[in-house]
Amino acid sequence: MTNKYPHETKSLNKKSDEDKIGDINDETISLNAETNSVMITHKAIDEITNFSLNAMPKEAIGLLSGREIRPRELLITKGLFVTEGEEYSVSFSESDFQIFDQVSSPEFCVGWWHSHPGFGLFLSQTDITTHIFSFQLVQPLSVALVVDPMDIGDDGIAKYKFFQIVGDSRNRDFQYIEIASYLSVSSE
Ligand SMILES: [Zn+2]
Repeated sequence: MTNKYPHETKSLNKKSDEDKIGDINDETISLNAETNSVMITHKAIDEITNFSLNAMPKEAIGLLSGREIRPRELLITKGLFVTEGEEYSVSFSESDFQIFDQVSSPEFCVGWWHSHPGFGLFLSQTDITTHIFSFQLVQPLSVALVVDPMDIGDDGIAKYKFFQIVGDSRNRDFQYIEIASYLSVSSE
């Protein structure tokens, strides 16, 4: 999938995406969308909207705290802010993952969020690699949330979408698909 946008998310590993896909080539990995739907609290998406607005024109990035409320159904109650990047790039560093410690049982890290100020709701090729290696292979229910703080709805919330990756390493064909999501008014 070619990325038409000058957008890049650096990943933890210094190897190129191509090398990493090569590494797993012997041991075929196959990814499915394990999460059927996501419910996110109004409070959580509001916080993520504010983090993203504050970082503009740079991108913001963070983690999602939540739990599985029914099989394959996530509830997200909190968006943790990790860092801001450049105008078209943002990255996690090793130390950023200490934020994981702020997620406490029975909740767990159900994925990550980042902003695309003014350039739409999708995953770049590098976002796909970040999601596969840092999230979906670690926790198959993990979702990637992208928000656009330049596109605020009447409710004051940034437009957003949730994604998971499907595909298989043998064909080097990984794609993102959108996961259905609902807004919960409960503050829980
Ligand atoms: Zn991105």
